[in-house]
Amino acid sequence: MTYSIALIPGDGIGPEVITPATEVLDTIGDASGHVFNYVELEAGGCAIDRTGEPLPKETLEAVKQCDALLLGAVGGPQWETLPGHLRPERALLGLRSGLGVFANLRPAKLLPQLRSACPLKDDVLVSSNSEGKAEFDLLIVRELTGGLYFGERGRSADHRAAFDTETYTWDEIERTLRMGCEAAMGRRKKLCIVDKANVLESSRLWREVAAVVSKAYPDIETSFLYVDNAAMQLVRAPGQFDVIATSNLFGDILSDEASALAGSIGMLPSASLGGPLAKNGRPMGMYEPIHGSAPDIAGKNIANPLGAILSAALMLRYSCGLEKEARAVEDAVSAALDAGLRTRDIAAKGRTAANETIVGAREMGEAVIALLEKTL
Ligand code: NAD
Repeated sequence: MTYSIALIPGDGIGPEVITPATEVLDTIGDASGHVFNYVELEAGGCAIDRTGEPLPKETLEAVKQCDALLLGAVGGPQWETLPGHLRPERALLGLRSGLGVFANLRPAKLLPQLRSACPLKDDVLVSSNSEGKAEFDLLIVRELTGGLYFGERGRSADHRAAFDTETYTWDEIERTLRMGCEAAMGRRKKLCIVDKANVLESSRLWREVAAVVSKAYPDIETSFLYVDNAAMQLVRAPGQFDVIATSNLFGDILSDEASALAGSIGMLPSASLGGPLAKNGRPMGMYEPIHGSAPDIAGKNIANPLGAILSAALMLRYSCGLEKEARAVEDAVSAALDAGLRTRDIAAKGRTAANETIVGAREMGEAVIALLEKTL
């Protein structure tokens, strides 16, 4: 099959992590006969510099013609003083709403090889893991096209007061919770809905919708947590969670917290789904590592490309229907970690342990490809 992939490397470390990810896809293509045709596009800071707009109309239109979108990251300090509607991050909101991808799936898993990169003590991890292992494996389903990030916002006439609005409709909540339930059915069948229902009216609506949706999934054990408690429970006992479904804002924050527990923000992939099907009849998805453009390390070849490579694996799974190939990529990432290869962010306490070799983004990508080639 031939797949048309929109590619937005973006700003900062975006291009450094997207290059290895596309090389991994090409390796899959060479071995399997599938063809990945890339349509390289601009969004974010680089698009602002060239066109004055974070998301040029042509970019969104071109992405819509593709089977999937693979994105690095956007943003950086040079664009931070621009007014909100012209900042690079607006490109992300425009892509998400423009593609209608309303659910962002963020798997956060502590791989056994990265145990030493997790800041939690063994007994904390073990006590909440049903198999008594110092590991956790959870999935955050974050609502992506509503809530505070899309609500009405503004300033008072004298600019000394500002407001942002959290608004959710029944349908927006229902489709997100259904996505969470479907995900839970393929996992350990536990769904925790995170909200702030003791204070927020919108959260109380989430609970009302959950009561209806959960009736359709009797096999799923549904629970609720206030977001402040959820933030604490994540560091107190991460193994208790299977799927967490939550709003745009809470999902954004909790997934960064979960990423630190998984070793590094550079490890986590994401898939945004739920919009109309692509021309090939499969889900059109937007795939990106959860990290930002990391201006502090950009251009130094020290970024971790594994979140981007694992995002490409999610793309193979959801938008290309290539499950075997997706697993091969995930196994190659795991094998590179088994071999002791580490980018700086996942090295034991930031320095090289006896069995670890610190490598750059390029070298990590090459190692994953070499290991992948052995299995294909
Ligand atoms: P960030 O995720 O870019 O960086 C946070 C910290 O994590 C930094 O210390 C960085 O060096 C480190 N880090 C991030 N990715 C890494 C990787 N792959 N390997 C190793 N270390 C990594 O978040 P930030 O500093 O808050 O934001 C920087 C810029 O990125 C801002 O302009 C922000 O708006 C933007 N941003 C973009 C996205 C996106 O494009 N999806 C997401 C978040 C932030």
